[in-house]
Amino acid sequence: MNQTKYIFVTGGVTSSLGKGIIAASLAKLLQARGYRTTIQKFDPYLNVDPGTLNPYEHGECYVTDDGAETDLDLGHYERFLNVPTSQANNVTTGRIYRSVIEKERRGEFLGKTVQVVPHITNEIKDRMQLLGNSGDYDIVITEIGGTVGDIESLPYIESVRQLVWDLGENNAVVIHLTLVPYLAAAGELKTKPTQHSVKTLMESGIKADILVCRTEHEISDEIRHKLALFCNVKREAVIQSIDADTIYEVPNLMLQEGLDLVTLKKLDLPKKAAPDLKTWNTFLKRLKNPKHTVNIGLIGKYVEMQDCYKSILEAFIHAGAANETKVNVVSIHSEHIDATNVADKFKDLDAILVAPGFGERGIEGKIEAVRFARENKVPFFGICLGMQMAVIEYARNILGYADANSTEMNENTTHPVVNLMEEQKNVTHKGGTMRLGAWKCTIEPDTLAYKIYGQTAISERHRHRYEFNSAYTNELQKAGLIPSGVNPDTGLVEIVEIKEHPFFIGVQYHPEYKSTVANPHPIFVSLVAAAVKAKKAK
Ligand code: GLN
Repeated sequence: MNQTKYIFVTGGVTSSLGKGIIAASLAKLLQARGYRTTIQKFDPYLNVDPGTLNPYEHGECYVTDDGAETDLDLGHYERFLNVPTSQANNVTTGRIYRSVIEKERRGEFLGKTVQVVPHITNEIKDRMQLLGNSGDYDIVITEIGGTVGDIESLPYIESVRQLVWDLGENNAVVIHLTLVPYLAAAGELKTKPTQHSVKTLMESGIKADILVCRTEHEISDEIRHKLALFCNVKREAVIQSIDADTIYEVPNLMLQEGLDLVTLKKLDLPKKAAPDLKTWNTFLKRLKNPKHTVNIGLIGKYVEMQDCYKSILEAFIHAGAANETKVNVVSIHSEHIDATNVADKFKDLDAILVAPGFGERGIEGKIEAVRFARENKVPFFGICLGMQMAVIEYARNILGYADANSTEMNENTTHPVVNLMEEQKNVTHKGGTMRLGAWKCTIEPDTLAYKIYGQTAISERHRHRYEFNSAYTNELQKAGLIPSGVNPDTGLVEIVEIKEHPFFIGVQYHPEYKSTVANPHPIFVSLVAAAVKAKKAK
């Protein structure tokens, strides 16, 4: 077997430079040249996984097929590469410590004093090589969360230093992403923050091989030379990463800058063929030349922070391109919606999506949004909590059960149309205990769901504790809310829809996690098409 090659991506100067996008773009180029590539993220916080983090803290929690609750960057990896990630692709300090402490309790360290170096660093190094050792990949890209110089990143940086040394010449490359700020008053781009950042990395014993410089303005040749000289990298290894209109431009920008070629050269790997980006560029062309425009309302309670609905927003970009349509996502806070203002707030919307979520805040506004969409025949799509709200709305306004609710919101409701799943009843721990990951679903023929998917056997990713209460299936079905998708093993209702409506669908799972550039999700694609149609009919 050939040696797996390793690429480490670190960040300096500031957070939010887009390490995830650079890692995903480089991976895309290497994949398009024929290398089996994967990306993993190592996060320095102490949570065992981001599942217990409030979305306001860290953005969306992304879920993999195997049920890992992960950092949202894994979503970018999947959207770019179209290859599923797994538990092994996201590691946190909490997870590392947990496993070292469990080993200590089992007596595996044989009386030794357990220390950050070597025990924590060895555990990190083992985890960093887990996917590489599987034999499934030629190249493994490891993104290190945080910024160099942070106290909490130190064990990761030290592990990278050791691993680069262990792996030997030409088997590992370190990419350092920094900011080259523009000082408007001086009219100049400044290299000093990058110099300092590279120096901080060097103090930890790591030499950056490649610099990727985020910038708002073109970096001149002169500045590239200066950066190369003072940061001890080759001139060709100074890569400009200029602000782009969309993250989906970045692979092409990196191709122009030659990031893939300098990387391959450093790893002593052949160029192989020129990257095959045909599907990617077709998508980009459609994205940039829309023939229609639609407004789709995103009704949720985390609307102040765009990252909370990252995968939904990206799925709309994929679905928009598939329909040659520009999708304006209009975020509307569910707490601000009530019966008196809904018609006014929604007057320009061509479709409505009610977002996933947890807890009681804002749910009455979500129910009002469902009612508006149902009564006015506006295309509707409910995801997870959004689907549960559609069930509650139907029970309240069609069956006349005024206090119908989910037991998540009201334990004493006389009509618990959504209730806690049986296996959740004795769960006390919050972390990693929801119904998570991929579950099968069987779709009824002759339904909207079947029209959308074009098949009866699907698999989608879940993250919830509550479910459609099957005690109400018959009654709701008779009244017109059709259970069009059911889990074949448990009988849980996963999809509901209304026949007498142009487009009304609610799903218990999260289709947004599976939408990629190469495979836009069919429900999002159909929703955008329905919105285009609704707009034309106005
Ligand atoms: N809070 C709901 C549940 O746990 C919905 C979860 C979600 O929207 N992801 O079932």
